[in-house]
Amino acid sequence: MNERRNELAAALSAVEERLAAAASHAGRSPADVTLVVVTKTWPVEDLRRLYDLGVRHFGENRHQEAEPKAAALADCPGVVWHFVGQVQSNKASRIAQYADMVHSVDSLRVAQRLAAGARRHRRTVDCLVQVSLDPARSGDRDEPAERGGVSAEQVAHLADAIEAAEGLRLAGVMGIGPLNGDPGAAYRTLARHFDELSATHPGVTVMSAGMSGDFESAIAAGATHVRIGSAILGQRPSIG
Ligand SMILES: *Cc1c(COP(=O)(O)O)cnc(C)c1O
Repeated sequence: MNERRNELAAALSAVEERLAAAASHAGRSPADVTLVVVTKTWPVEDLRRLYDLGVRHFGENRHQEAEPKAAALADCPGVVWHFVGQVQSNKASRIAQYADMVHSVDSLRVAQRLAAGARRHRRTVDCLVQVSLDPARSGDRDEPAERGGVSAEQVAHLADAIEAAEGLRLAGVMGIGPLNGDPGAAYRTLARHFDELSATHPGVTVMSAGMSGDFESAIAAGATHVRIGSAILGQRPSIG
């Protein structure tokens, strides 16, 4: 379907232009911001079209979907797989078989399972500590975070555990902007965690933040990786 290819090409270059404009507005180089295209719910054919258009960083959020897609694109050199969804600890070991970077490490248990899987498959998996940016969370820490992630107090502890785990590499932090509220403020909070962590851990270079609706404010706050789905692929069919 050439029509779909043209549609994706136009949407991709529009996003790349927005990204470049946001970077230069922030006094940053567009080359310092990696575009991860989040392809969840979209078919492998779309991933191949995007690959032909030059996309190399693909993001998925469910293991059941990510694993067959990674296998389907095994013949495409240079693809980097980003796992951005919540990691169920019983899937972590298998995620470590194909994921190059897991953005959503939010517990010691998940880190340990990922590490075991990475060692088994003789791989090294880059890991980001997912930090909760949900304002509701700071008040009552026993409530599960709406959008996942550890509380501010837990970031250093989880980061140290990842750093110490053979098979994992601590690469940085990730956050999901609040559903309601100011994404800029949330992303500046994430940037503060990024600065603290990178000051003590030289391998920390990644701040993953920003989606289709708010990635300009994430880039302004210092995001090095933005995760864009619907602005490139279109509205996902709603799934329960
Ligand atoms: C789906 C998803 C995205 C992309 O969201 P869009 O609004 O479609 O750009 C980014 N990050 C995570 C964790 C996601 O699950």
